[in-house]
Formats: sequence, C-alpha cells, structure tokens
Amino acid sequence: MKGFAMLGIGKIGWIDKDAPKPGPLDAIVRPLAIAPCTSDVHTVWEGAIGERTDMILGHEAVGEVVEVGALVKDFKPGDKVIVPAITPDWNSVEAQAGYSMHSGGMLAGWKFSNFKDGVFAEFFHVNDADGNLALIPEGIEPAEASMLSDMVPTGLHGVELADVQFGDTVAVIGIGPVGLMAVAGAALRGASHIYAVGSRKVCVDAAIKYGATDIVNYREGDLVEQILDKTHGKGVDKVIIAGGNVDALGQAVRLVKPGGRIGNVNYYGSGESLCIPRVEWGCGMAHKIIAGGLMPGGRLRMEKLATLVTTGRLDLRPLITHRFNGFDHIEEALMLMKDKPRDLIKPVVIM
Ligand code: NDP
Ligand code: ZN
Repeated sequence: MKGFAMLGIGKIGWIDKDAPKPGPLDAIVRPLAIAPCTSDVHTVWEGAIGERTDMILGHEAVGEVVEVGALVKDFKPGDKVIVPAITPDWNSVEAQAGYSMHSGGMLAGWKFSNFKDGVFAEFFHVNDADGNLALIPEGIEPAEASMLSDMVPTGLHGVELADVQFGDTVAVIGIGPVGLMAVAGAALRGASHIYAVGSRKVCVDAAIKYGATDIVNYREGDLVEQILDKTHGKGVDKVIIAGGNVDALGQAVRLVKPGGRIGNVNYYGSGESLCIPRVEWGCGMAHKIIAGGLMPGGRLRMEKLATLVTTGRLDLRPLITHRFNGFDHIEEALMLMKDKPRDLIKPVVIM
C-alpha cells in the first residue's frame, strides 16, 4: 500500500509498505477524511520526538472499517468510525490509574505517527478497536468528524487541565484550531471573559464566533502587558496554552492570579527547558498550578464529544478552511500546516 511518510528528520515522501494485519483485538481502517496537524510539523521539521525512519505520518482520521480481529465485538467491516489520535491500551496499569494516554509509558498512548505508522495511508491499524473506535453519528460529515479525532479533544482538554469554572476569566494563548476549541470549551464551561491571543484574521474571526470576548494580538506588544492592562493589573483566573513559543509557559505564570491554574496542551517542539519566572511564581509559593497533558483518547471520549456536535452545541465547520479531494493531496495539506498561510485554520483531505 501507499503511505505518506517521514523519511527522516526534515524529510517527507511517499513510500510503499505491506498493508497492516489486525491482531485479535484490532481493526484495519481505510481513511475517509484525514487532517495534518501542527504536531506532524514538530515531529518532522523540529525532530521533536527524535529520529523516525520511513514512518507513515498522520494521526487525525475518520474511516471505514475493512477488517477486524477475532475478539472485536462491537465493530464490523463497513462501519464508519471516528479514530482518536490517542489510542490507549485499555488494559494497562496506566489506564487503570486514570492516565490512559500514557499507557505503556510516557506519551505511549499516542501511537500513530509516534510509535507506529500513522493514518496517511491506504489502510491503517487501530489497536483495541472496541476501546478506541466510535461510530460517526448520523448528520456529521467525514471532514467535520475528523476534527473530533484531535482538535476537539485537545482544545477541550486544555479547558479541563485549567479547570475552568463558571464566571472565570480565561486567557487562551494561541487560537489555531486547538486554541479555538479551547475558546469554545471555556465558553461551554461558563467563562465570563475569554482573552484570545493570536494574529491571523481568520482565527480571530473564528475565536469571536466561539466565544472570545477580547482579542489580543501578540505582534502588537507584549501579550502579558496587554492582558494585564485589560484586567486592571489583576490577571486572569485560568490560562490555557494552545500555541505561542517557548516563552508561553512563563507568560502564563505572569498572567494567572495566585491560586489560578494553567492548562497546557502546547507541544513544545524544541529547546532544552521551559522557564518559570521566579518572582511571578511567588518564589515557589503562589499556588499557581501548572498542568500539562496529552489529550485523552478512546471510544467514550469520542462518543461524548460527538454529541456536542449532534446537539448543535459545537459547530466544527468554521475550523475547516481548506478542503482537498483525493489522497494525493496529503503533501499539499501538510505543507499548508507547516507554512501557515494567513487564511488557514485547518486543512482536510477527503478521500
Ligand atoms: P497553530 O500553529 O495553528 O496555532 C498556533 C497559535 O499560536 C496561532 O494562533 C498563532 O498566532 C499563535 N502564536 C504563534 N506565535 C505566538 C507567540 N509568539 N505568542 C503568542 N501566540 C503565538 O497550532 P494548532 O492549533 O494546530 O496546535 C497548537 C499546539 O497544540 C501545537 O503545538 C500542537 O502541536 C499542539 N497539539 C497538542 C496536542 C496534545 O494532545 N496536547 C494534540 C494536538 C496538537 P497567529 O494567528 O499569528 O498564527
Ligand atoms: Zn494532532
């Protein structure tokens, strides 16, 4: 089969591989819609997770089941499914401890385009099919449904990590597709003010649609100063980091009030360490909590998040700015994600 792969750090291209076979609990899926992710960009061009050779890229997909293992109970060939970017081993001790995304080791629930071939292929392998697949509900088209695989669960996890409560003031650093879902999630959780940090007009317009009350353009001055000005020097109750550069964590510490929480879903692709400003962190005593996490995957999560779409609480259409038809356009879509033209939020390739 054909797949679009990371050949090595900084190198991409088409390769041929044998089609995968299912183990007893697994499924083989043919993609219906796939999306490249900023994480693919960190992985390939920053070498963020180290060297990978001839590894098929991609972890965001919906597809059609073509084969299942003998012990799979709930899915059969022909089913149209959402495939989460993170596919934990549900019988692992880490999953039993409540951190399924680290099943088998730190970040090891993230298998596609990390520890095994990803979804940019004619066929791909899904471990623990009953635990990880979810049927695409009626009324959600494949391109939209592909946003449920990573953008929705990651943005909403930022909200969970920051523990946004009714009436909280919230800053969201970065309003690409992940940050936009964090804005939407903070609004769903009852935030009062949402300060959305970004510069591209298309993202700013979407952020307002999703519930941002204030826009902060980080290119027009220090984002911390701008938000402190808007909050009369008080800062915010919660910060969600969904973009920005290596300074984002320090900015969040400066922004959040004592007792506040920072939820980080940003993937820091380079640099040895991240800095915490000593004084603004209360010399270690400010009760400013930092929580950073990989999105939770799995079937229940996908089924629940899909209901936000079917009930009309979350509209995913504004996220998709570029649609391509046909597998051959994967490279073009990935390069858009790398180059981030100003009219881009998220590209999707539909088969
Ligand atoms: P995008 O690149 O599309 O968006 C990044 C955002 O950050 C944009 O709004 C951009 O603004 C803004 N930004 C860029 N530079 C700065 C800066 N110096 N200061 C403040 N803001 C800045 O990213 P995605 O939404 O696709 O992904 C966000 C992050 O989430 C990535 O690191 C990705 O790898 C990670 N991720 C993490 C996952 C997880 O499970 N934890 C899963 C999926 C993704 P502008 O408008 O100027 O472009
Ligand atoms: Zn992703």
